[in-house]
Amino acid sequence: MLLLPLPLLLLFLEPEACSLKSKVWSLDPLPAQPDKALLICPLTSPNIGAMRRDAMSAFAQGADAVECRLDFLDALPQADELAQLLAGFADKAIITCRPVREGGRFAGPEDARLAMLAQAAALDPLAIDIEMDVPTERWPKASIIASHHDFSGVPQDLPSLAARMQRSPADVVKIAFTAGSPVDALRALDIVRNCRKKAIVLAMGEAGVVSRILAGKAGAFGTFASLSESAASAPGQPTLAEMKDLYRWNTIDAQTQVYGVIGCPVGHSMSPAIHNAAFAAAGINAAYVPLLVQDGSESFDAFMLALLERAWLNWRGLSVTIPHKENALRFVTAQQCDDLSARIAAINTVTIEADGSLHGQNTDYAAAIDALCAAMRIGRAGLSGRKAAVLGAGGAARAIVAGLAHYGAAVTIYNRTVSRAQALAEEFGCLAAGMDIANESDAEIIINCTPIGMHPNIDASPLPRIPPACRVVFDTIYNPLETLLLRQARKAGCLRVPGLEMFVNQAVAQFRTWTGRQAPINAMRNVVLGGL
Ligand code: NAP
Repeated sequence: MLLLPLPLLLLFLEPEACSLKSKVWSLDPLPAQPDKALLICPLTSPNIGAMRRDAMSAFAQGADAVECRLDFLDALPQADELAQLLAGFADKAIITCRPVREGGRFAGPEDARLAMLAQAAALDPLAIDIEMDVPTERWPKASIIASHHDFSGVPQDLPSLAARMQRSPADVVKIAFTAGSPVDALRALDIVRNCRKKAIVLAMGEAGVVSRILAGKAGAFGTFASLSESAASAPGQPTLAEMKDLYRWNTIDAQTQVYGVIGCPVGHSMSPAIHNAAFAAAGINAAYVPLLVQDGSESFDAFMLALLERAWLNWRGLSVTIPHKENALRFVTAQQCDDLSARIAAINTVTIEADGSLHGQNTDYAAAIDALCAAMRIGRAGLSGRKAAVLGAGGAARAIVAGLAHYGAAVTIYNRTVSRAQALAEEFGCLAAGMDIANESDAEIIINCTPIGMHPNIDASPLPRIPPACRVVFDTIYNPLETLLLRQARKAGCLRVPGLEMFVNQAVAQFRTWTGRQAPINAMRNVVLGGL
């Protein structure tokens, strides 16, 4: 006999008190318009006992429904085993037995599969998922989710496929395909919005995750979120914890404003965590999503155009990271950026007004300059005439050199590739030298803009020792919080500026620009500290 922990047992003994019952729609037949999209947890457990335990765990973690993936079971269940599995939560269970031809694991005879689904239908589940290629006369007598899966890409005839499925007798239409870019995710959301039936349309893979996070905004029947990363039933599927805590699934509705970070790669970015926490702390109805857009201006432009075509998304801002900062400036145009951002020729922040007009900004330089000035207890004007050495000549160095030069500091750029340092120095009226002589610098301020010392190479430093004239060391690296260079600076008695301050400052500046409100800076800093 299955022994349940007390809280889970109460879940079933007192259904009226259970939060799952707060869904006010009736279950028979399937609701035309459930109030809120369902958060559905797929269960990929190997046996009935484990699947039931996982169902309890999914409900305890906030799932509204579960999808029992019977094709993951070691053996097809008998009727009594199905009843045992679903006891107490059949009305919150979708039953699926996906055949191999649709990307599932069931390789047995079709007749046996359909007979078992008919047995499951007799238990009155929330729905049975049946593939669109099964003739309708063979569909089980139950509420039906008709589904189609394409793991190779986007079906060529996506709109006509959706129209055909909409005309079927299914209660809910489900299409899952593999996204090549976030544009495909927006196409998935379009189908959900335009479908006259309730729909679940998912663009699988990392590039398609927006179709999952914003499913509720588009009015979908539901979206899928796994118990853990290893229990995901499809590529790109977030976990329940990510959906609820990171993306705040429960707060997303038709009015939600959308923000995101464009980059490649983007999976490592802390921006979704920091900005979603900020929106939560400030009580703003907004969601912030990761956008994996492949390198190249065509990919960037295609995504921006797709986003701007869809006013209903209420998309209000973007953070831009490597390799798209230059693409972003070109797309927004220099006229829509402040002068210094235009001179840096790279922006990390795009603001989209309600009328679709765009503004660009580079918050990196201001974030760095303000972190430096705060540590030195001076205003930006106080940098005038001070000698600064910048190590590196890449994107971060460019923004910081531009800022320092703008406020009158005397900057020398030290870089491994001297020609790159020279080109940057010429642009902003600075001096240039090779990295190998940086330890001879007579600068008061030294700023590391190379990745030397960054995790996992934490025993490396760009300088063998801190030069005697140095009073302030700023390391733009924020992982680890205290780099070897900063430890050297501590021993030399210098003021130290950790990269964390710059990282938090640039996000704070974005929040202010987008919302016009003070940023909840402590909540944002804590997210970064917790994520390191
Ligand atoms: P980037 O454009 O790739 O530039 C990297 C620079 O570091 C180049 O000048 C490169 O020299 C130099 N470099 C790389 N590896 C080196 C090595 N082994 N020895 C000597 N020089 C080396 O990168 P980025 O965007 O400027 O970012 C640089 C660092 O800044 C990042 O690693 C990150 O830690 C930090 N950062 C921090 C923040 C923040 O908010 N705190 C924001 C952005 C960046 P060559 O020209 O010779 O290749």
